[in-house]
Amino acid sequence: MKAHPVNEPILPYTLGSNERTTILEQIEKQMSEVIEIPCIINGKEVFTGNTVTQVIPHKSNHVIANVHLAGKNEIEEACEAATRSQKNWINLGLEGRCKIFEKCADLLAGEWRMKVNAATMLNQSKTVFQAEIDSACELIDFWRFNCYYARKFHDDFQPLVSPDGVENSTEIRPLEGFILAITPFNFTSIAGNLPSAPAIVGCTSLWKPSRNSYFSNYYLMQLMMEAGLPAGVINFLPGSGEEITDISVKNSNFAGLHFTGSTKTFQGLWSKISDNLNNLKSYPRIVGETGGKDFVIAHPDCDKKGLLVALIRGAFEYQGQKCSAASRAYIPHSIWDDIKDNLLSEINKINMGDARELTNFMTAVIDNRAFERIRGYIERTKIRDSCEIFAGGKCSDSDGWFIEPTVILTNNPTSETMVDEIFGPVLTIYLYEDEKFEEILEICDKSSPYALTGSIFANNEDDIQTAFKALRFSAGNFYINDKPTGAVVAQQPFGGARASGTNDKAGGPLNLLRWISPRSIKRTLDIPHEWKYPFMESQ
Ligand code: NAD
Repeated sequence: MKAHPVNEPILPYTLGSNERTTILEQIEKQMSEVIEIPCIINGKEVFTGNTVTQVIPHKSNHVIANVHLAGKNEIEEACEAATRSQKNWINLGLEGRCKIFEKCADLLAGEWRMKVNAATMLNQSKTVFQAEIDSACELIDFWRFNCYYARKFHDDFQPLVSPDGVENSTEIRPLEGFILAITPFNFTSIAGNLPSAPAIVGCTSLWKPSRNSYFSNYYLMQLMMEAGLPAGVINFLPGSGEEITDISVKNSNFAGLHFTGSTKTFQGLWSKISDNLNNLKSYPRIVGETGGKDFVIAHPDCDKKGLLVALIRGAFEYQGQKCSAASRAYIPHSIWDDIKDNLLSEINKINMGDARELTNFMTAVIDNRAFERIRGYIERTKIRDSCEIFAGGKCSDSDGWFIEPTVILTNNPTSETMVDEIFGPVLTIYLYEDEKFEEILEICDKSSPYALTGSIFANNEDDIQTAFKALRFSAGNFYINDKPTGAVVAQQPFGGARASGTNDKAGGPLNLLRWISPRSIKRTLDIPHEWKYPFMESQ
């Protein structure tokens, strides 16, 4: 067994660095053209002529691509291609498949890095650092560690016992049929991982990218093909999620859903799959990582500077559009009195604007729909007696979809913005009496349906342990004295339960197990030639 991989180092993009020059050149190049993005079915580009445009969220009148959407025929062809290609894909063997995905990782770490990062900065409006940790480092890690984990199953899952005359073994088969991978806009790495994790263990897939990340995701598809991904193994299908789902779950070879996105979408997909169960050859595996209402709780005895940094980075990096973003905080009055002026002055220092301007900490939210949804939350807050806007609160869509980093103070722990996933740069803070720490843990646990990430700031180990136990089921990823974002592959496998998903932990071995269906094999070396048992002998 090879030694395990190491996490891909993050490039710093400091002034004068090569990577800083190259990324800016790559951005200019990508902005100077409008590319045509086809569907890719069975390894072939399909230009359907039914197109939508892709724009840059922080420069919303700038078109970077025309995207050809899949219709009924393309979706059906993709189901066929994925089904047909599985036999050869399995026969290639785990080593053959890993070689391809390890090549993907090497290409992304090398000559493709700047192309994919620039595409992510433009398409999803990320700062250079947010793009680097997502579309380069995290995806490289997913590919390398998933290959490592998959190889390890083959050793770990062999039967413990083979008595004399018998050889027992386990074949790590993939699911029989194809996977539908439906991916979110907010992480290029997740988009790449959802179709490829099942592929490493032998599944083929239809990949339905988000309408807000066709551009960066198409770069990944091209990269995988350059690395030698055989035709039909992953079929790239921009188009209507509803239509793609309707057709694929009616196909008897549909074997599973690998989804990341909102809770509402996932619940709808689950129902649709169960409605079609009778048509399917196998019970499908359903993996969905969904929304969050991620919390920060401060104890009266805690590191105040650390808390402030966690609130700013946790709530506002990538404009709060991380499933793990800090969006509710519970802070004792004594701490609030100490940090509030600093918090306001630090938030006022945040630069927001074009992703090309590297001094910006924030850029735009993803599209007009998100802009209006987030603005709605802020506007409703303004007329609520229980809430006040402490920082930010202004929105502008004249050049792109910009929303100021916003902090709301509330005296109602179940007010709308303390409970709903807003998915924007909005943090709501509930102030509590210093002596009510344990009550606040209970309120935090009970007041939202989500259970994705959360963090506790406390100096004293007993207080940390009290929170650890009280919040056992409140978060699938729990942080102590840190922000609730920034999970790293192979360090903090990621996922939550309750309304936040099936908790199958992307970035760890558990996720891969969902895509296998093992076969147990007994080979008898001493073949019995007598049907009677010894106990049957007469005296
Ligand atoms: P979304 O649910 O709007 O879309 C996700 C995907 O589902 C997209 O590809 C979309 O086109 C597709 N889709 C939407 N409606 C569909 C339908 N009726 N049938 C089939 N497909 C459909 O989510 P989004 O805006 O892309 O992403 C943000 C959401 O994702 C947030 O809720 C966030 O918390 C969540 N998220 C969760 C994790 C996690 O690991 N838990 C990670 C990233 C994002």
